[in-house]
Amino acid sequence: MTADATAAPAARSRVMCDLDLDAPGRHEGYLRVPFSRDDAGWGTVEIPIVVVNGTPDGPRAMFTGGVHGDEYEGQIAVSRLARELRDPQSIRGRLILMPMVDLPAALAGRRLCPLDERDLNRQFPGDARGTFTQVLAHYIDSVLLPRTDVLVEVHSGGHGMEAALSTNMHWVDDAGQRARQMALAAAFGAPYNVVFWGVDEGATLPSAAERRGILAIGTELGGWGRVNIEGVRIAERGLRNVMKHLGMIDGAPDTTQRDGSPGTRQMGVQGSAGYVFGPADGLFEPKHLAGQPVRAGELAGIVHFPEDWARSPIELRYRATGVLWMAMGPGRCRKGDTLAVVMEDYRP
Ligand SMILES: [Zn+2]
Repeated sequence: MTADATAAPAARSRVMCDLDLDAPGRHEGYLRVPFSRDDAGWGTVEIPIVVVNGTPDGPRAMFTGGVHGDEYEGQIAVSRLARELRDPQSIRGRLILMPMVDLPAALAGRRLCPLDERDLNRQFPGDARGTFTQVLAHYIDSVLLPRTDVLVEVHSGGHGMEAALSTNMHWVDDAGQRARQMALAAAFGAPYNVVFWGVDEGATLPSAAERRGILAIGTELGGWGRVNIEGVRIAERGLRNVMKHLGMIDGAPDTTQRDGSPGTRQMGVQGSAGYVFGPADGLFEPKHLAGQPVRAGELAGIVHFPEDWARSPIELRYRATGVLWMAMGPGRCRKGDTLAVVMEDYRP
């Protein structure tokens, strides 16, 4: 066989999907992303997808888990929801569920896809003629996002970070869209919502969604490479809360927190002052856990050089006052790594 996919028009997806995404009812199956191997030239990687098209008068939402393979709460919550939503007549609108988006990364328990060593959440809008993750990103951007009004992307901190249990959203310039995204996050009901712009957001899935006018929120529900018990609970409740907020199912969102407080604390990371970056390659000793209150000027941690005993450790101090949102785990750091991120109370 000599068929050459690179001869296809650049804009045409190479992903096969034999589901009719727009037909009424429940559809379950796979996106088949081509991946040629020595022993399987026509090999594909099967990415699970469930589409529930309920009554046509409702909104269209997409929930994702496993965009990063070493973040587990979303994989559990979205796959459980996919099993539970059997009756399409039980929802108004459309729900697209992808519990394990970067399947090769998830099976390997890794952030990056082992097939091409790329971070799916840095590949958007993707490339139909690119590598595995670029082809997958292109399909999501060009086929699934146009069928979506609301995106909820369930992440956690992976191996590298631990996060205070939170939703997050970008600081979008359109004040109306920002207000609707904050309301969506408040309905999800995590302890915190963070309005921010990260170190590299333009190529992420939420950014691709925002470019299409889609309301998009993400989450950070644990980290350090294990399943966060409370993170799973917040994720499962949050996805149902979002469906209630959008009118897809009946009922009001339950946003009561463990400490009895009534809802989500709106926070922000504005500018770079919230970030603590690694000043050198070394061994980072943190001083706080995610979720703890911290002050500007307070000791954030110490970078040690045990391999060079005469070299003085470097003390790092916070430059913002608030709550520690993201915390790197104790361990080796490199110069330029984000070691801690402080969120402050939201200021419009
Ligand atoms: Zn992630």
